[in-house]
Formats: sequence, structure tokens, C-alpha cells
Amino acid sequence: MKNKLVMVPSIKEPIQRSPGFAKKELATYKLDLMGLCGFGCSYCSSNAGNYLRINRGKFADLTEQQLGERLLPATSPELAFLWPDVLERLRAQLAQKPHTLGAGETLVVSQLTDAFSPPLLADGTTQAALSLVLAKTSFRIRVLTKNAIVGSPKWIDFFAAHPGRFVVGLSTGTLDSEWAYAVEVGTSSPQARIRALRALQDAGVPTFGMLCPVFPDTLLAEGNRSLDSLIEQIRPERCETVWAEPYNDRANWQAVRDGYPADAPGRRWLERVFGSGDRRAWSTYARDLYSRLRWAALRDGWLEKLRYLLYEDGIDEKDAPAFTGLDGVLLQSKPAEDGRSANRAIAAIQGVTP
Ligand code: SF4
Repeated sequence: MKNKLVMVPSIKEPIQRSPGFAKKELATYKLDLMGLCGFGCSYCSSNAGNYLRINRGKFADLTEQQLGERLLPATSPELAFLWPDVLERLRAQLAQKPHTLGAGETLVVSQLTDAFSPPLLADGTTQAALSLVLAKTSFRIRVLTKNAIVGSPKWIDFFAAHPGRFVVGLSTGTLDSEWAYAVEVGTSSPQARIRALRALQDAGVPTFGMLCPVFPDTLLAEGNRSLDSLIEQIRPERCETVWAEPYNDRANWQAVRDGYPADAPGRRWLERVFGSGDRRAWSTYARDLYSRLRWAALRDGWLEKLRYLLYEDGIDEKDAPAFTGLDGVLLQSKPAEDGRSANRAIAAIQGVTP
């Protein structure tokens, strides 16, 4: 996919705290290098996030001025918003900071976009930004991407040349390349991402698993497209940590649905859950995904690495007992005033040993 590039004003300070990713135990700081990722995944939650929502009209005007057509992120996956002076902003942000900035902290690159988007790779922004962070701070850098280029010899050498500074993960929630081609429009194929992850592992670069999101049809699939196969292929025993989550985003479900053929089970499931509002079906899916991950992790000895991201306000009372012990579960919904889950069925199992 060839991106349509639009220049938008850079944010003032590219490195920012990230309470959202801290709650997921992914990172305490984030660094985005662009305004809109050039990969165009139809389930991307960034399109509904504050930054793009608040600037929607302004960025649509800039798009029209620069491209001659009024394209919007939600309907034009080829659109990418670039911050032309992001490196200057990053240099300025880090200029007066002590080199100890970020010691003991993790900086995710990136959270709302993908730092390995082709336009950023083509003009050298990605490598320049990472080099700046390495030179000017003490952050450990969590590279989170869907571009298999991170498994190429050039990038493996780059990460390996800085021991202790990088941990790399490729978000992969399916092994169905046809589906991925329709929904994760510009990314590397799932198979290429798996190969990249394994190349990094074989080269001794620290890695993490990112099964986010795992769509319901992956639970139904068998053979080499199954959830078990996906788990096996990321080699959890060689990952530092393995994150996983069900699909949550209700704002873009129709765009995701349109990536499926007319009679596909995944399409019918999305219609039922988000179109007809069958919340219990979502709860059952979130439960089943967790149960299967937990079982595999327990069987193969990596349960302590599991981080299952659960918006537990959607969990039905009948499904709550499956989460007893909350092994590897990170609750993501807003808690009640006493700090426990606002979902009474989940609160009832907090602190209970299975
Ligand atoms: S690669 Fe990530 S940031 Fe980019 S569109 Fe896909 S989900 Fe969004």
C-alpha cells in the first residue's frame, strides 16, 4: 500500500508519560514519531483517541489543502500524518535533561502509531530518533511494531549493539494472512512477523509476545491458524512477557466486519456482539480466550509471563469464576472507590485463591 502523506504540526514534546501503558505494564513513557500510522489497521483504536478526534477538522483541512481531497483516517487506510520537525522537537526536549532520564523506566516506541512505518524508515527518522534516545537518556526501549523489518540483519545488529536497552515485540493476533491483508492493510503478514520475532530471539535480542487483539475466529480456527499454533509460534518460553487481549473496540467494529467474507463466522460474531449488543457473547469469548491462554501457559510453564488485558466491566457474572485467582490478568476497567473492580462478580473473586 502506498501511503498518502500529509504534514501536520508536531507535538511539542514527543516523549510523554503513559499512564495507559503503565496500567498494562508495558511502559511508563511513550514516544510517537508521527500523527497517524501509515499501516491503516481497521481496528486501530488511535483513530477514536483524543489526539485525532480533537484535531479531526483541522487535519481534514490540511489533507484537503495538501492532497486535493478530503480524506479521513477512519476511511482511508493509506493516509499517514507526518510531523516534519519531530526530530528537532525530540532534540530540544532532551537537550537540557540529565543522561539519567529514564533510568529504571521503559519507553514504548510507539503507542499510538508505528515507529517502523515506511515513511519514517525511508527518511531515517526511526533510526535517528532511537539513536537520540539511546545517547541522551537511560530508558529501556520497548519497540512495538507490526513491521517485520525489525527482524532484518540491519535492525537486529542495531538492537544487539545496545545490550540491555531494547526489548522488541511484533503485535500478532492471528495467523490468517488473508484476513490480516484485509484488516491490517499495510502491515507485514503475520507469518513475516513471526519469522522476525524468531530471528530476534535466535540472535539473542530480548523479545515480548503481543497477541493483541486475538479475534474470536482465532479461537474457532484449527490447525496452523489456531490459537494454539499462534502461541507456539511466538515461543513464549523465549519471550520476556506475553501480552494478550480480546477485541474490545466498539467504535470501529463495522470496518473490522467488512474485512471478512460475507458468510465468515467472525463476521457473524461481530454483527451479533456489537450490532445486536449481545454482551454475554463477548464475555464468553473473553473468558474462553483467557482460559485457553492460561491453560497453555500453565502446561508449558510460562504463566508468570502472561499479561491478559481485561476490560472486566464486560464480564458476565456466570463467566467471572473462570478468572478466579486472576493469574496473569491485568484489570483495565475503572475501579470502584475502594480500589476493587467495579464489576461485583470480579470484585468477589479478587483475593480468592483458586
Ligand atoms: S500498526 Fe498499530 S498504530 Fe498502526 S494502524 Fe495498525 S494498530 Fe494502529
